[in-house]
Amino acid sequence: MSLEKVYDVPLEVAAGAHITEALYREMYERSIKDSDKFWSEQAERFVDWFKPWDKVQDCDFGTARIRWFEGGKLNVSYNCLDRHLAEKGDQVAIIWEGDDPDLDRTLTFRELHEQVCRFANVLKKHGVEKSDRVCIYLPMIPEAAVAMLACARIGAVHSIVFAGFSADALRDRILDADCRYVICADEGNRGGRTVPLKTNVDTALQSCPNVKTVIVVRNTGGTIDWDARSVWYHEELAEASPDCPPESMDAEDPLFILYTSGSTGKPKGVLHSTGGYLVYAAMTFQYVFDYRPGEIYWCTADVGWITGHSYTVYGPLCNGATTLMFEGIPTYPAPDRFWRVVEKHRVNIFYTAPTAIRALMAQGDNWLETTDRGSLRVLGSVGEPINPEAWEWYYHHVGRERCPIVDTWWQTETGGILITPLIGATRLKPGSATRPFFGIVPAIVDSQGNVLEGDCEGVLTITRSWPGQARSVFGSHQRFFETYFSAYPGKYFTGDGARRDADGYYWITGRVDDVLNVSGHRMGTAEIESALVLHDSVAEAAVVGYPHNIKGQGIYAYVTLVAGISPSAELEQELIQLVRKEIGPIATPDLIQWAPTLPKTRSGKIMRRILRKIAANEIRDLGDISTLADPGVVEEIIQNRANRS
Ligand code: ATP
Ligand code: MG
Repeated sequence: MSLEKVYDVPLEVAAGAHITEALYREMYERSIKDSDKFWSEQAERFVDWFKPWDKVQDCDFGTARIRWFEGGKLNVSYNCLDRHLAEKGDQVAIIWEGDDPDLDRTLTFRELHEQVCRFANVLKKHGVEKSDRVCIYLPMIPEAAVAMLACARIGAVHSIVFAGFSADALRDRILDADCRYVICADEGNRGGRTVPLKTNVDTALQSCPNVKTVIVVRNTGGTIDWDARSVWYHEELAEASPDCPPESMDAEDPLFILYTSGSTGKPKGVLHSTGGYLVYAAMTFQYVFDYRPGEIYWCTADVGWITGHSYTVYGPLCNGATTLMFEGIPTYPAPDRFWRVVEKHRVNIFYTAPTAIRALMAQGDNWLETTDRGSLRVLGSVGEPINPEAWEWYYHHVGRERCPIVDTWWQTETGGILITPLIGATRLKPGSATRPFFGIVPAIVDSQGNVLEGDCEGVLTITRSWPGQARSVFGSHQRFFETYFSAYPGKYFTGDGARRDADGYYWITGRVDDVLNVSGHRMGTAEIESALVLHDSVAEAAVVGYPHNIKGQGIYAYVTLVAGISPSAELEQELIQLVRKEIGPIATPDLIQWAPTLPKTRSGKIMRRILRKIAANEIRDLGDISTLADPGVVEEIIQNRANRS
């Protein structure tokens, strides 16, 4: 594809990186050939164990049995806090930046440790025991990290529900995980508006009779209803003892449950382990972001998503890093907010999602010009394929060609990053997540399951386990097996399509469910979308297939224009010509619909399954839309659909 370019990592960043090209090759080879030894070394390097493990790995994809470091004893909160106190007690662990730009605060490792210990005692006082599930429904405030680490300290299993979810979505997740305790805030703040969190909990709990206690963090001070099972976080904390020894947990004890984003269907309660998960989150954090002591690291993901778990909280804190938590949104009070926060807190490593990058790119470069982003050293992307056009903007304009971009491919189910560049080792190609991380063996297969070699395109599978892999779907190991291990026996099925180029680089082409089949040619959605986004007037595009009499499937493109541009027949022709030139006539869109906004999950991913239904004119049954960020968007798109057959 003509979009392909190659960039070297800027020399001053590559110098002194943890992993060089020679080291990548050597370590990767060892991670495959001498896997037990390799992972033992990493587990010892990144985590302190109370007792060593009996067996490094015991995994069988044939039965979906995944065990790492079994018999080993550790505690996640001890690793994220206690062991740093001697040397880093006064170092800032969490920088909090409020939705309101005038509000911020910091917590040192010592302060965070004390709060976690106190809150762990509060949980115990209310009867929370090892392996009990605790639902956390909090905005991006330090108390979210405190709650996670307090659960980990006593061996309770947290299930975080993103604070943007409705009462119904919350209820479903509380019931599915059988949570008996809920931790929430009175209200959240987002983009200058408040979100009624306690009120949503009250509504949800009407159908959750098993919930005994609700612990409420006073965040906005707004008025809320009170009842006998509610207690205030700050009152309980003040009375609790700051002394709470960490529970000794087995490596295979569960650490948390997290529901997937729901891009493709009903969310699954993915279950993660204690030992393997922590080793993998900590190790990938250091190597992928090339974290160096003293640096300020900011991942914009909410703790309600896996990225917030692994790379806002557990990975950074396990490494003794300073992590920034941001309560707000990229465009409030203005579209320069991200860059102002970078400037204010001298952020060195910045990790965000393509949806945010595209949205800010569409607002124009003026918003960059008034800020100094000289502190930045590394940029990251996660969540969707990043269109090369957005990559280039991020690289040239945000990072001023000084910062490499790590495009990290991974999933809720993988616990940590699986395919990614490593600074100091990997030349970058915009739009490619590049090469597998240590221990990761991808295989691209055709629809019959044959493994394809060399330069090829097909379904992305992973052939052997890694420590961060999910252990089960909560409540249904059978569903875990069927979803991930039955399609291609002996392999982990990712649900994503990928292309591997002649250099061995991986390009995620989109979800397998979204693959188009036009006149017998199979095509991913990502390439066509990236071609459309190349046009200066296009902010974002989503492509789906729809039934077509002659071709089998036709190509239906939903296009969002940048602010101030109006749709026209001429523009439509330009877009069609652009796709023909970039990819070829086979990829020519048959129908284009101008869509002021696209339906997205709460984590900002385009929901193509809904767009596919609308394109096919199946507007009566859109499937599960509970994870949609703004249902109103769908109505608008239905009204203006281009295929009224
Ligand atoms: P569900 O599984 O419920 O449909 P989801 O897959 O969106 O939801 P997540 O686990 O949050 O839930 O997202 C993982 C998916 O996000 C990947 O399978 C992939 O499709 C996409 N993704 C994440 N990072 C990247 C990336 N760097 N490049 C391309 N795609 C990515
Ligand atoms: Mg998924």
